[in-house]
Amino acid sequence: MHALDEREQSIAKNLAQVMDCTPGSMYWKDNEGRYLGCNQFMVKTAGLNSLDDIIGKTDFDLWPDNAEKIQANDQYVMESGQTIFLEETVKIQSGETMYFTTAKSPLKDTYGNNIGVIGNSLDITKLKETENALKAAKEKAEASNKAKSEFIHNMEHDIRTPFNGVWGFANILAEREEDPEKKEFLTGISNCAKELLDYCDSILEFSKVEHGSIPVMEKSFKLFDVVDSAIKIESVAAAHKKLDFSLDYDENLPNVIQGDPYRIKRILLNLLSNAIKFTNEGAIKTSVILENTHTNSRSCIIKFIIEDTGIGIPKDKRNIIYERFTRGTPSNQGIYKGQGLGLRIVKQFVTELDGDIHLTSQTNKGSAFTILLPFRLPLTDDIIDES
Ligand code: ADP
Repeated sequence: MHALDEREQSIAKNLAQVMDCTPGSMYWKDNEGRYLGCNQFMVKTAGLNSLDDIIGKTDFDLWPDNAEKIQANDQYVMESGQTIFLEETVKIQSGETMYFTTAKSPLKDTYGNNIGVIGNSLDITKLKETENALKAAKEKAEASNKAKSEFIHNMEHDIRTPFNGVWGFANILAEREEDPEKKEFLTGISNCAKELLDYCDSILEFSKVEHGSIPVMEKSFKLFDVVDSAIKIESVAAAHKKLDFSLDYDENLPNVIQGDPYRIKRILLNLLSNAIKFTNEGAIKTSVILENTHTNSRSCIIKFIIEDTGIGIPKDKRNIIYERFTRGTPSNQGIYKGQGLGLRIVKQFVTELDGDIHLTSQTNKGSAFTILLPFRLPLTDDIIDES
């Protein structure tokens, strides 16, 4: 080997500086896996004292647990003559595990022969630890979400079914009982069981809605029948509270439209039962209006308005009422029963139908929910009865 002249010495010095500025470890080895040199970062990682200490050592001396894998990769680089990029895990002298993203290329002599390997390994331990922690947190969240779904699913059998029995038998006994005091107690049991049943049903419906397990329908149906049926169901509760309960149905509305009658009815039922629940006197009015028709694309937009003269919704609550389990002010919660799921379901259904929902309200004067929904218009008024 010839002695380095001044110019060569200067180049070698610069090269050493460049290597020490390089992020991560730089090293080169001969074709037997013996280290020929490295930068300062590598000296530190390998737990050595100086640059000279690495010369002649192999990966088996530095990190025996991982040496075999490292050498297999080195071998591949020398044989293929290719540069490879890979992730490496190395247990260093202190016992700590470090992760690297590594680039390895063949080390060549002046004739172009592969005489070893040159590598650059970037320390990504912190990144990897964060990634692993995130992965673990995600798996934990997924597991608890699965457990929650299974619990809710089991609720149908484990809680709802026996409660249905309690409600049914209490009802029968209450009807047959002649002693007024016993009759009152039995009616109390029946009412409480019914309340719990309704609670279970809301949570079960919400769980199905949240998991998207209710497919969106696209079928021909008579809109009036759907609206009328929802109105009839809720009119009993409205009459009980002596509320004026009316329907204003636009006569220009098409007889048959195409869409999802299940979702329309659930939206109306939820909004109507809220309107009744939160109104102590006055009126509830439902309006169904043909907003516009596009004859070319055979479609129309229909507006539904549910107005009440109830307690209203304070300005600061108007955006959050659509979030699940969100209910009115705590002072109202003892008076007005509910789970805070109804409007969440309404909002999701409206979104799934490509519609819009809008609320106007005045405290102690009332609220109005306006919904705009697009529908397709069928070529004929024929309805396929699937019942
Ligand atoms: P729930 O009625 O079961 O509490 P919802 O999701 O249907 O749950 O409604 C969320 C909250 O929005 C209610 O607790 C209530 O505070 C408010 N709200 C909804 N509809 C009305 C209404 N028509 N009038 C006044 N407040 C309403």
